Amino acid sequence: MESMKIPVKTIQRFWNKVEKTDGCWLWIGSKSKRGYGYFEIKGKTFKSHRVAYEISIGKIPRDKYVCHHCDNPSCVRPEHLWIGTFEENNHDMMRKGRMRSLGVPCKLSPEQKEKMRNLYSKRNITLEELATLFKVSIGTVHGIVRGVMPRYGLLKSLK
Ligand SMILES: [Zn+2]
Repeated sequence: MESMKIPVKTIQRFWNKVEKTDGCWLWIGSKSKRGYGYFEIKGKTFKSHRVAYEISIGKIPRDKYVCHHCDNPSCVRPEHLWIGTFEENNHDMMRKGRMRSLGVPCKLSPEQKEKMRNLYSKRNITLEELATLFKVSIGTVHGIVRGVMPRYGLLKSLK
């Protein structure tokens, strides 16, 4: 999104299209097939969660993505948004329809991945718990810890 100064009136128009719940703030304006909200400013269309980020938190760094902690594409609650990098491969797979509705095309930092592997290699945490902890999908966790999966025997002995 190019840098923009958004007039107060436009900001009011934006929040009028949002239904705030105790959890997510849902976009009730127009949406894409994948559930992302769209908002028009001066004839240009922007993704509404990106607009929410810009008007509530600040400028989105170049080439960065605004991701959802909550995996809910139509959510525009600033607390649920975070800045991540775009994973080309992920996007490519989504485009080809191989991964249907994975919410966040965002990459964890190498440090986070390392931490995840470390935690997992100690074998006292489940994929689900890691997914919750790092706010990513179980599929993402699985992809990252695959190299340090406990051998079958070990896994079995934990059950
Ligand atoms: Zn949310």
